[in-house]
Amino acid sequence: MGRRKSKRKPPPKRKALEALDTQFTCPFCNHERSCDVDIDKDRSVGRVHCRVCLEDYQCHVNYLMEEIDVYNEWIDACEAAN
Ligand SMILES: [Zn+2]
Repeated sequence: MGRRKSKRKPPPKRKALEALDTQFTCPFCNHERSCDVDIDKDRSVGRVHCRVCLEDYQCHVNYLMEEIDVYNEWIDACEAAN
């Protein structure tokens, strides 16, 4: 007895989202859920677009990235610009 299992990380669990979470608060006009995120997996491009103030942003995405990541990239880019 006393055999120890080697440390193994459990596989990452995908969090189940209640709704399709692709609408976010705009950092420019502060409207809630006014930003739609599109991910084009074929071209590895993520795009955020605000329906209210028409700001948009594009970034390169990899296969791990989801809508929230594209949105976070945008926020980072906005902060970096300030
Ligand atoms: Zn906006």
